[in-house]
Amino acid sequence: MARDRQHRLAVVQFGRMLHENGFVAATDGNLSVRLDETHLLVTPTCISKGRMRPSDMVIVDMDGKRLSGKRRVSSEIGMHLLIYRLRPDVHGIVHAHPPTATGFAASGYDLNRPLVCEVVVGLGSIPLARYGTPGTPELTDALEPLIPHHDAILMANHGVVTFGSSLESAYMKMETVEHFAKIALVTHLLGNEQPLGEKEVQKLNEVRHRYKGATPTPADLRSDALRSDDLQSDDLESDDESKQTAGSRR
Ligand SMILES: [Zn+2]
Repeated sequence: MARDRQHRLAVVQFGRMLHENGFVAATDGNLSVRLDETHLLVTPTCISKGRMRPSDMVIVDMDGKRLSGKRRVSSEIGMHLLIYRLRPDVHGIVHAHPPTATGFAASGYDLNRPLVCEVVVGLGSIPLARYGTPGTPELTDALEPLIPHHDAILMANHGVVTFGSSLESAYMKMETVEHFAKIALVTHLLGNEQPLGEKEVQKLNEVRHRYKGATPTPADLRSDALRSDDLQSDDLESDDESKQTAGSRR
């Protein structure tokens, strides 16, 4: 029960941060935590994510059926259920509409360009899922092929979903996506974009796979960069994701 309380407080805290950062307006967005193999803690619908109380949360089973809580569960519960089903490693999910990243998603742009080394290490690439009506299988069908390979996905004409080994990790990824979208926009405005080369991206992906789930420190990055330099390129495992990142075009 103490853990249940901790999870509720974490949802309240990260909901408030989503609101304070302007990542959601009005009653937008939703957050969830995997409590155990059969229970999820999810935010309710029709409430500002900046003003939730621990008692507002809803507990559902893995079919989305409400087991406890007075409020109605988020209409996006289907998206959360799909992500937990496809990714046993995921324990927290955040969905929001951060304005810059959502602007990319509304303009038909993904955030796959390798412009910033730490984003490549932390997230790899950030693809764009085709549009689907919220709360329907159209949306989950569009996300399904991307979920196994990414921790952050832009949803066309809608917003962003991020997920991780904890709610905190999912929330941090949302901040990274919005921050990176701002950088990508400034880079585009300056008109002299210089994306990292394929070899550099490959080295960063090596680090990424070594630290899956945990964010490496700058010292980790330095020592890994040295180790990667020692490797012959033939020693580097061919990796679909790195090819996709380096080769993707807007
Ligand atoms: Zn939404």
